[in-house]
Amino acid sequence: MFNTLSDRLTSVLQNLRGKGRLSDADIDATAREIRVALLEADVALPVVRAFIAKVKERAKGAEVSQALNPAQQVIKIVNEELVAILGGETRRINLAKNPPSVIMLAGLQGAGKTTLAGKLAKWLRGQGHTPLLVACDLQRPNAVTQLQVVGERAGVSVFAPEPGNGVGDPVDVAKRGVEEAKRAQHDIVVVDTAGRLGVDEEMMRQAADIRAAVNPDEVLFVVDAMIGQDAVNTATAFSEGVGFTGVVLTKLDGDARGGAALSVREVTGQPILFASNGEKLEDFDVFHPDRMASRILGMGDVLTLIEHAEQAFDAERAEAAAVKMGSGQLTLEDFLEQMLAIRKMGPIANLLGMLPGAGQMKDQLAMLDEKHLDRVQAIIRGMTPAERDDPKIINASRRLRIANGSGVRVSDVNDLVTRFFDARKMMSQMAGRFGL
Ligand code: GDP
Repeated sequence: MFNTLSDRLTSVLQNLRGKGRLSDADIDATAREIRVALLEADVALPVVRAFIAKVKERAKGAEVSQALNPAQQVIKIVNEELVAILGGETRRINLAKNPPSVIMLAGLQGAGKTTLAGKLAKWLRGQGHTPLLVACDLQRPNAVTQLQVVGERAGVSVFAPEPGNGVGDPVDVAKRGVEEAKRAQHDIVVVDTAGRLGVDEEMMRQAADIRAAVNPDEVLFVVDAMIGQDAVNTATAFSEGVGFTGVVLTKLDGDARGGAALSVREVTGQPILFASNGEKLEDFDVFHPDRMASRILGMGDVLTLIEHAEQAFDAERAEAAAVKMGSGQLTLEDFLEQMLAIRKMGPIANLLGMLPGAGQMKDQLAMLDEKHLDRVQAIIRGMTPAERDDPKIINASRRLRIANGSGVRVSDVNDLVTRFFDARKMMSQMAGRFGL
């Protein structure tokens, strides 16, 4: 995500390092390069202009800090201005005082609305809510079934029109969906609506009618970050045709140039609430402007990483494993458990990509092979509990059995066992050194 932009900005800012004092000419040159980087990332021109003007003005102004050198000051200013155009503070979702709250999703076909409905439902459930998904996309073939599938995966109920009863009238379905939520005591209703491939009047009218009928607490405009400059045009059209209270960016996992993320907020005045970065239900994050800015500037996104980790880890178990690691008693069973917990956080390459400096290790990240991890998992699963508990007993004949059972070569099993012993030794040495 934002790789090209991030690389460009990082290298522009890196060029400033080591300079004792920045002349106005240095600042102008830097500003020019940032401008090109932003334009290439498809950020809308008015947004770029305003951004550059602000950065220049502040960098040349009297903001002298004792603590920061000139280069650091520019980085700080660029970072703060990025946070500002991304919306400043994190905006939380608005819910009604009297449930059910209604959240309506709008956007073009293919933007990722139905997928988002599932993600949102799962996330809301995790926050202790009892969402109901309502299928008002009656235009796209299969949209209703697709919503039922994601609803099932997210573990939430879906309200869909029964054949022969109001089919074809999304406004009616939306109203009945909200009634159903009241009846069955769901505290949030997520209304999925139809999109078209391009903006058209009828779609806008339909979305506006649904909005008028159910009076949502939030209307979220869902936009595919990969569509570049078009994102801004579409956002403007929806803003005028339906109106919305927040934006969700999807497909940030793609090779998005990031322009949409950086422009939509400025152009429409509405905040970005969520970011969707993959096809799976858990590929979803609350949007934090400050974290996104530091990610774009190659400073990593350690906070998001920590949040994922908190969700995936069971603190007590992790603590117990840490104690075992320190005392050299870690078993392959513990190892498998830790590995599964980490993998639950998402693809390993995505996780590492959030670390500072990850931009520079892109090639290595691309080589990280999930298949290798699958293999390790299969090997450990092929062992008996006694073997996992005490890998020392894994002799030649056991190795052969494990290899056959898990569909790998004996050398793979050997490799894993050897590495496990090495790792265990290293961990207990480290623990000794840190006095754990
Ligand atoms: P809708 O027409 O707006 O309801 O869009 P869908 O939810 O059907 O999504 C369209 C396609 O985009 C589907 O193939 C989804 O799997 C895919 N998709 C949705 N969100 C994301 C995302 O964040 N990343 C990626 N890579 N694909 C996504």
